[in-house]
Amino acid sequence: MKPTKPLVAITGASSGIGKATAELFAAQGYPVLLMARRVHLLDALDIEHKVTAQVDVTDIVQMRDAIKKAEAIYGPVDLLVNNAGIMPMDKYVDQSLDDKYATLDVNIKGVVNGMDCVLKAMNARQHGTIVNLSSVAGRWTSIDHALYNGAKTAVNAITEQARRENGENNVRFILIEPGMVDTNLLDTTTNQEVLGAYLVHKNRLQGGLAACDIADAILYTYQLPQHINIKELLITHTKQK
Ligand code: NDP
Repeated sequence: MKPTKPLVAITGASSGIGKATAELFAAQGYPVLLMARRVHLLDALDIEHKVTAQVDVTDIVQMRDAIKKAEAIYGPVDLLVNNAGIMPMDKYVDQSLDDKYATLDVNIKGVVNGMDCVLKAMNARQHGTIVNLSSVAGRWTSIDHALYNGAKTAVNAITEQARRENGENNVRFILIEPGMVDTNLLDTTTNQEVLGAYLVHKNRLQGGLAACDIADAILYTYQLPQHINIKELLITHTKQK
């Protein structure tokens, strides 16, 4: 039997927060569209009502096609979670231009692509929610994070202004700003010295929050009545400074 709940689309669902969010919403009875580059990890998830698609979020054509395919089965996307992200840390002066551009492309352009894929239809239906994953790094700058800080700060500004412009159409924008979460996010940092310094901080917090803690927050904000828009949620481990 087809689920009665609306379609939830999640980018970066192959790992960490995206994967935990996919599993949580699926357990709640939502059909899910799961997008990432490593599609075999999406296919391996034990979720009945899912559509999986190999999507690089920097490619809007891939994302549009995936959404079209899932909507043909489960109806319009009511929640988009723009979660895909990378964090290659380094000193600004040392970081390669490739890593700098990738940080901006995935973390900003990926979010913009997601919003463009669903927003007009949500406005037309007068219903929808877009959750954008930002970070404490969008609130303040920190060592070795210059591009990541810049990207997440941009996501904050884009999200807030889009919220102001589209709330009239009953579309919500929710910014989730986690602190340290124990995921694979550090895999994109290759500078071992920088990584070592970060791990000292991470180990002090026993890894930080779990991915499912952030998934819980996304579910909570989404399941509130549609007239309630939690604009942003800054969530850290209790011991994180
Ligand atoms: P993970 O590395 O565990 O997951 C990142 C996900 O993003 C993967 O599923 C990966 O899938 C996907 N991804 C990366 N690049 C692309 C791309 N070009 N196209 C499509 N998907 C992509 O990290 P997290 O779960 O921690 O990160 C999720 C979000 O949470 C990010 O936006 C991150 O910035 C944010 N965040 C994380 C924090 C933390 O401490 N972990 C703290 C604050 C915010 P694949 O490689 O298969 O494409």
